[in-house]
Amino acid sequence: MIEIDGAAGEGGGQILRTALALSMCTGQPFTLTRIRAGRAKPGLMRQHLTCVNAAAEVCSADVHGAELNAQSLSFTPGQVRAGDYHFNVGTAGSCTLVLQTVWPALLMAEAPSRLKLGGGTHNPMAPPFHFLARSYAPLMRRLGANAELNLRRLGFYPAGGGEIEVTIWPAEETLRPFDLNDRGARLEGYAECFAPALPRSVARRELEHLGEALGWSGDQLREAPTRQHEGPGNALLVTLAYENLTEVFTEFGEKGVSAEKVAHNLMRQVRAHQLSDAACGPHLTDQWALPLALAVWKRRREASYTCTALTPHAKTNFEVIERFLPVKFSTVPSGNGWRVSAKFA
Ligand code: AMP
Repeated sequence: MIEIDGAAGEGGGQILRTALALSMCTGQPFTLTRIRAGRAKPGLMRQHLTCVNAAAEVCSADVHGAELNAQSLSFTPGQVRAGDYHFNVGTAGSCTLVLQTVWPALLMAEAPSRLKLGGGTHNPMAPPFHFLARSYAPLMRRLGANAELNLRRLGFYPAGGGEIEVTIWPAEETLRPFDLNDRGARLEGYAECFAPALPRSVARRELEHLGEALGWSGDQLREAPTRQHEGPGNALLVTLAYENLTEVFTEFGEKGVSAEKVAHNLMRQVRAHQLSDAACGPHLTDQWALPLALAVWKRRREASYTCTALTPHAKTNFEVIERFLPVKFSTVPSGNGWRVSAKFA
């Protein structure tokens, strides 16, 4: 039984999700105590409980203590089964985080799986759908793990109601670790504003300010189409496509925060990335560790990637992954960022 302290390091929900994902992939049971102790509202919130229940359904796990607000639980996985799954957070909690919880396990299944996920698709503190579709999924494909993602409906806090459909193909035999140390030349950069059920002036002002700050114009500034029954909500995104990866940066608009401020905050994220020549931005850095470690474990190899920053999320995730897999992470300064290596041990 692997014992994980949910208060260690970053102390957030990622500790739970990584433990669930790798417990399913390796068949090792775990207990988790002091769940999300580093957060203002510790314990299992609806979104985290949905992750536990989704994981339990995918592998017929034996779970104890998984209740709303619970501070500890135990999880004993069974056999991972491919299938048609429907997971609904039931609030505006992020459904992309539910997807990331079960995605690695479904790579280990024997047949493709089709998932329908409901909840928030664009939440602060979670990967927005477009980050997963443009940044994460293409890297997964390059790793040998094919998936197709479709956004059916946007979901924002507080109404939720978003919907994503995903097909995940088995990949245990095709996973191949690769180095991602160089982002390559920039191919394209553009901004999009999603602002369903809000006045059009919101999107126009955010894009205008961002365009001025980044020196972008015309087709680089896009008002994204929205559908009926979406929103209200507001996300401003910048996509930077390079030869070897695509990065997506996001800021959220909310009541009381000016369009200028939203654009300014996003510009700062983009500038920080442009000032470095490392491959991965801060969020991709913590999220890429798990799939890469799986491929390193399966092929008994070593692989590395460079990143602009090493966040507490990333360091904590390395530590949790090392508890489940015979993989060691190491980091060294590289240029004006870091290089992360994952080695079979
Ligand atoms: P936690 O705070 O422990 O629940 O983990 C949040 C996860 O969401 C981490 O993997 C973050 O990298 C990820 N995340 C948060 N904001 C973004 C964003 N804007 N783009 C991509 N990923 C994000």
